[in-house]
Amino acid sequence: MAERDELVKDLREYALHQGSLTTLGVALPPGIEPAQAAPQQARASNAAAAPKEKEEGLRAAREWIGDCQRCRLAGGRKTIVFGQGSAGARLMFLGEAPGADEDEQGLAFVGRAGQLLTDIIEKGLKMRRADVFIANVLKCRPPQNRNPEADEILSCQPFLERQIDVIQPKVIVGLGKFAGQWLLKTAEPISRIRGRLGEYKGIKVMPTYHPAFLLRNPAAKKEVWEDMKVVQALLREGQA
Ligand code: URA
Repeated sequence: MAERDELVKDLREYALHQGSLTTLGVALPPGIEPAQAAPQQARASNAAAAPKEKEEGLRAAREWIGDCQRCRLAGGRKTIVFGQGSAGARLMFLGEAPGADEDEQGLAFVGRAGQLLTDIIEKGLKMRRADVFIANVLKCRPPQNRNPEADEILSCQPFLERQIDVIQPKVIVGLGKFAGQWLLKTAEPISRIRGRLGEYKGIKVMPTYHPAFLLRNPAAKKEVWEDMKVVQALLREGQA
């Protein structure tokens, strides 16, 4: 039995990195439902959509999440943290999951790690935080801030896919292991993928260290700064 559970877990993780559980036909565990197919109107590529349409697309995505009960995290959360920022953002940051402050306030990256992210955006990239979009792989806080589990990520992923489809940023910065792996559909460790430019559905992806890691390891800020310089250059392309 334990062996079977282990095999199912491995298959789920494999499926996660392929981007879909359904391709393997692996049943979700009791209590976990994949989100239903996305509402039709926002499905087409949104790259050229007007800001108003993008705002409407995000509003529809939030409505689609509703009072989500699709996974076990619903039981322990206070709020669903959808993410916030500009619907027309050219730059998106993707974190792991809300922590206690985010769960309390319903906003992504508002605690200590969030302050450091603000510094990266404002002091490093010289952008306004309000002009980027910030979201997480999971929209609900895992208990005691434990790591997201594969089935939780799969349950939540249609919402993130929708957010990205609507916003169509030019660059997405993946903060930490879970965001980087989800975006690049890889199981490689963050130490290996950090700084390696990749793509998610044609959108440039820069995986870098998570601000919470930087709080514990300030020396690693140097590498994040290298990554942000690449992001800055990508954002400048075609802007002049
Ligand atoms: N860490 C994250 O990954 N996301 C948040 O929103 C806050 C802390």
